[in-house]
Amino acid sequence: MTTTPDTRHLLAPVDRPDAVMVRGEGSYLFDADGRRYLDFVQGWAVNVLGHCPPEIVGALNTQARALINASPAYHNGPHLEYAAKLCDAAGLDRVFFCNSGAEANEGAIKLARKWGQAERAGAFEIISFTGAFHGRTLATMAATDKPGWSELFGPASPGFRKVAFGDIAAVESAIDASTVAVMIEPVQGESGVVDPPKGFLGELRELTKRKGVLLICDEIQTGMARTGPLFAHQADGITPDIMTLGKGIGGGVPLAAVLSSEEVARFEPGDQGGTFNGNPLMMAVGLAVLERVTAPDFVEHAKGVAQHLEQRLAALCDENPGMQRSGSGHLRALVLTREDAKEIAARCYEAGLLINAPRPDRLRFMPALTTSIDEVDDMIAILKSSFAG
Ligand SMILES: *Cc1c(COP(=O)(O)O)cnc(C)c1O
Repeated sequence: MTTTPDTRHLLAPVDRPDAVMVRGEGSYLFDADGRRYLDFVQGWAVNVLGHCPPEIVGALNTQARALINASPAYHNGPHLEYAAKLCDAAGLDRVFFCNSGAEANEGAIKLARKWGQAERAGAFEIISFTGAFHGRTLATMAATDKPGWSELFGPASPGFRKVAFGDIAAVESAIDASTVAVMIEPVQGESGVVDPPKGFLGELRELTKRKGVLLICDEIQTGMARTGPLFAHQADGITPDIMTLGKGIGGGVPLAAVLSSEEVARFEPGDQGGTFNGNPLMMAVGLAVLERVTAPDFVEHAKGVAQHLEQRLAALCDENPGMQRSGSGHLRALVLTREDAKEIAARCYEAGLLINAPRPDRLRFMPALTTSIDEVDDMIAILKSSFAG
C-alpha cells in the first residue's frame, strides 16, 4: 500500500498523488511500489525522447567525464557547436541559452525592449493574448493571462497588454507608439491546447512587419517537433524576430533558449547573462536531443504515430457526440461535453495512465515523440474505460 509522503518541508505546495516516482523507461514511469504508468504527460511536454533515453544518458555520461562547468566566462565546445546547429535549424542568427522557459521569455522581453530603445523611440510595451501562458517570473506573469494572476504578488510588472487570441483587428488597433512587440504561443498549451484561427500567425507576421514591431514566438511548449514541424511556426511559413524554447529542447534536463535575427540581436557584453548559461553538460544534452529529433527515421516515426493518435481521437469524438479535439502532432486535447476532466484523469491514473486536465472540460495529451502505435492504443483503451466510470 502506498504511504502518504511527508511534504511538510516543501515550500511551494502542489497537489500531487501519493506515488513517489523512482524510475522511467521510454513511455513508462514506475513508482516506489513498483506500479507502472503509461505516461502521456512526459515531464509536461518535456521528454520528447521519452524517459531516460540512451541519447541523453550517453551525452550526460560522456560530457560529465570531460567537463561539467567551465563558467560562462569561458568558451566551451558544446556551447559553440549547439548554438550554430540550433540557429541553423531555426533560420535565426543568434542564441542565448538559459535554464527555464520563463527565463528565456524574460530574455526575449529584454531583447525586444533593447531593440525598441534603439529603433522605436523607446517603445517597450508587449502585446500578448487572452489565455496566454509565458511563465512565472514577475514579468512573464504579467504577459500571462491566468485567472487571479494579475493580483497575485502585485503590483504587476508594467508594460504588458492583452488582446483577444486570434483577433487580428484587435491586435492592429492595440498597436501604438509604445508597442515594441507581439508575443504569441503558436498553439496555446497551458490554457488547454487552443489552436489559433487558421492563418492567424501569417497575418500577425504581416501586421507586425507593416507596423514595424517585433514578433516573438514562445515555442517553449510547441517547439522541438511537438506539433509536427521542428518549430510550430514553420507550418505557417513564417519566421519570427525572436523565438523562445524550453521544455523539449533539453529532453528532460533544465535547458531553454532565446533566439533572434541579427537585426534584433542587440545584447552587448554585460547586458544579459546567467551562471549556468551555456554550461557544457546541458549543451551536450541539447545537441543530442536536436540531432535525434531531426533524424529522418525519427521524424518518420513521429509523423506516423501522430497520424494514428489523430485517427484515434477523431474516432472518440465520433463515438461521443459533442466531444471535440484540438492541437496537432504530439500536443493534443479533447474538449469534453461535461466538466469532468479532472475526474477522468484521476480514474486514468488509478488505471495506470498519466494524462493532464488543464481545464475542467479539457484533457491534454503530450506523449513522448518516441511513443509507439501500440502505446497510443493502450492509452485510448484506458481512456475509454475511464469515460464510463
Ligand atoms: C512551460 C511554459 C513556459 C514556462 O517555462 P518554465 O520552464 O516553466 O519556466 C513558458 N511558455 C510556455 C508556452 C510554456 O508552455
